[in-house]
Amino acid sequence: MNALAATNRNFRQAARILGLDSKIEKSLLIPFREIKVECTIPKDDGTLVSYIGFRVQHDNARGPMKGGIRYHPEFPCGSTLGKKEAYSAKARYGLVTFVDDDVRILLTDPVDPDEVNALAQLMTWKTAVADIPYGGAKGGIGCTPKDLTTSELERLTRVFTQKIHDLIGVNTDVPAPDMGTNAQTMAWILDEYSKFHGYSPAVVTGKPIDLGGSLGREAATGRGVVYATEALLAEHGKSIKDLTFAIQGFGNVGSWAARLIHEKGGKVVAVSDITGAVRNPNGIDITALLQHKDATGKLANFNGADAMDSNDLLTHECDVLIPCALGGVLNRENAGDVRAKFIIEAANHPTDPEADEILSKKGVVILPDIYANAGGVTVSYFEWVQNIQGFMWDEEKVNQELKRYMTRAFHNIKGLCQSHNCNLRMGAFTLGVNRVARATLLRGWEA
Ligand code: GLU
Repeated sequence: MNALAATNRNFRQAARILGLDSKIEKSLLIPFREIKVECTIPKDDGTLVSYIGFRVQHDNARGPMKGGIRYHPEFPCGSTLGKKEAYSAKARYGLVTFVDDDVRILLTDPVDPDEVNALAQLMTWKTAVADIPYGGAKGGIGCTPKDLTTSELERLTRVFTQKIHDLIGVNTDVPAPDMGTNAQTMAWILDEYSKFHGYSPAVVTGKPIDLGGSLGREAATGRGVVYATEALLAEHGKSIKDLTFAIQGFGNVGSWAARLIHEKGGKVVAVSDITGAVRNPNGIDITALLQHKDATGKLANFNGADAMDSNDLLTHECDVLIPCALGGVLNRENAGDVRAKFIIEAANHPTDPEADEILSKKGVVILPDIYANAGGVTVSYFEWVQNIQGFMWDEEKVNQELKRYMTRAFHNIKGLCQSHNCNLRMGAFTLGVNRVARATLLRGWEA
């Protein structure tokens, strides 16, 4: 099941639980606007290359639409590739799973319209779950950022901004970083946007601190994952320091989550990224692993842990599994072998519906993405508020407010789980969908 079908299914189930009118259900499902633009740039050698950029604006009932822009290769999740294509994709991205001799499936979070659509919809529910005054959007360009030079990336970002500048804005749609983009990308968008509309730092979040970015934004998604994990564990009478963790992904989200778990005394027993995986049953020294990765660019050859096959990370022995990388990684092929008791979805839609069913039958507790990774967009909201106020908060205040928002959302979700007798995913979906449905009804449709 692709990401959009899975997201729609979760939404429909929530709509049924809430008894939503079918007309409202339909209007909530259809995206507000889908934008697809051609972005042609000269490469450094003078040749012209064309890319396709997307922005899907899903819903704005609760406020300006909000969500990341990702730069990622265009292969859709679950594509079956020819032999030559599959080998070359594996060499370039390292993300190909060879299912058998003839079928090769590429597991990647792509930039394709269905995927962007699903991610935009998830942002609508995510901002509502966090109770921040936004709707949802997502965008991206189908490209391979590591194959582009900095000046090529800058040209691509500026051309994309020229094509969408009239459709984004402080009170319309506020982009942020996502996979393959960062604070520098946001600085280019801000600069290009400002040529048309005047200087408006609140048009993007996740900016460099020097341009009005918020302290704590860089670490926010990983930190939010840790606050969410603490809230869940407290419900079960447990705490981070007593448990073991396996973390898939060691980019921004995974490395911050690992660092903070390590600081809180949790034992991170396995970590993987696209360069490989390492394990140590006594706990990995995450500070040393970060230094090693900074110095070598890889997890491999780290002294304080043994190498392991990355494909085994998700089924590694641990109490808490945290997928922080790709969508669809937990599926019917591997869900039965998962040994963790808790799964924290730091990635977007890492668990497909079939895996969800298998895992819940096994009694695994899953903290859903639209709550677990909401820390990033929550601190984006704090950044936007600071820009509009023209007043900067210190990092302590940012982290304190983040904790308050994450803890409050957890208790709101639990409340709905109890009243609807449902799992945490449906608790989060019913919370988000109900808030958006209420705002939609209050605003009305009269033309
Ligand atoms: N890209 C992040 C997400 O998927 C952050 C979005 C934002 O800050 O607007 O939640």
